[in-house]
Amino acid sequence: MEEAGADWIHVDVMDGEFVPNLTIGPIVVEAVRRSTDLPLDVHLMIEKPERYVTDFVKAGASTVSVHVEACPHLHRTLEQIRESGARASVALNPATPATAVETVLADADQVLVMTVNPGFAGQKFIEGMLAKIETLRGWIDDRGLEVVLEVDGGIREGTIERAAGAGADVFVAGTAVFGAPDYAAAIASLRRKASDA
Ligand code: ZN
Repeated sequence: MEEAGADWIHVDVMDGEFVPNLTIGPIVVEAVRRSTDLPLDVHLMIEKPERYVTDFVKAGASTVSVHVEACPHLHRTLEQIRESGARASVALNPATPATAVETVLADADQVLVMTVNPGFAGQKFIEGMLAKIETLRGWIDDRGLEVVLEVDGGIREGTIERAAGAGADVFVAGTAVFGAPDYAAAIASLRRKASDA
């Protein structure tokens, strides 16, 4: 992926509780960390993520995303991520409104808008998420914040332009890259579509 031109490596961590699928833990992140110097964007789709934040940062995460739906003490968890030495990101499921993160926006480095229901690869982009991206973009700009706005799920040619047009600035692509015969061509083409939007 580094040779193919990716800017970051996004790592989906699932616990079989918060989402109905199981993936990887800190040991795999540590192995990925040894393989690349690119920033590791670790997306925790797990219950009680505060239990593992420090482990993932120690394993090499550059950014840690926790879900607002899994964090009753979200502000504290974001502080914990920063204190551990990583960028603090908050993720929202499709059914969660933008207002769920409005009060912590100034305390986050990144907001991750899920554009599919988390758990499985290859799902279809949910169009209704564009309005949420626009709302968050508006708040970030109006308040002069440096928060990065990331989208994750169903990002490919045909959806990346619309997510970029709505104000997203980081795009997670799985199937659109790994399902393509030429990773570098796929990334270059997605990058072009996003910057033309
Ligand atoms: Zn993800």
